[in-house]
Amino acid sequence: MAQRIVVVEDEPAIAESVCYALRRDSFEVAMTSTYAEAEREAPRADLIVLDLMLPDGSGFDLIRQLRRDSRATPIIVLSSRDSEADRVAALETGADDYVTKPFSPREVVARVRAVLRRVGQPASTRDVAVGRTPLSVDASTRRAYLVDRLLELTRVEFDLLASLLETPGRVYTRAELIDRVWGDGFAISDRTVDSHVKSLRRKVSEAGGDPGLIETVRGVGYRVGDGIPTTLDGP
Ligand code: CA
Repeated sequence: MAQRIVVVEDEPAIAESVCYALRRDSFEVAMTSTYAEAEREAPRADLIVLDLMLPDGSGFDLIRQLRRDSRATPIIVLSSRDSEADRVAALETGADDYVTKPFSPREVVARVRAVLRRVGQPASTRDVAVGRTPLSVDASTRRAYLVDRLLELTRVEFDLLASLLETPGRVYTRAELIDRVWGDGFAISDRTVDSHVKSLRRKVSEAGGDPGLIETVRGVGYRVGDGIPTTLDGP
């Protein structure tokens, strides 16, 4: 069955060119131009292409609302504002990727494919104990647990944690983490990685864990765990 992409964009020329390119690439497409319509269509989307400035609301609010409802629907933001602050804010709010206007519709389609590929990676559960703290990441449900407490993570935070847990004890450089979480060749700064790690640590700490569980390896990157495998019962 074709994957359903909801395009939220109030500029008709842009909306039509993006929808046309997606349809030509065999996606099922719903074209919406307001926050209200997007809100209605979002639950049935496999991915959302979202303009940040809508006539009746902000794209940021839609991202927040979806993530608050624990919906992991991937979101690609269309931003006319070519500022790093905006892009970082979108990613930190829980968007998966962004495209800055003007863009070619083919670029949007390529981003859609890349994000769907990343999200659709095979399911697996990783359990690791850091010190005596059991940590569990389930890729199929995209949920992470500390002991038995669910961590409320954004997609980026989840992918960061899941990447670090792929090989516990291994040090991942920021460049490697950017490749894994955002995709190859994507212009994300080291500072952005650091700020997501910071919020991940805060959430671990709020769940009663040790924020040092995600260890900074000075001058190199980040590491979780000591590499000693554990067996844990799933949550
Ligand atoms: Ca707009």
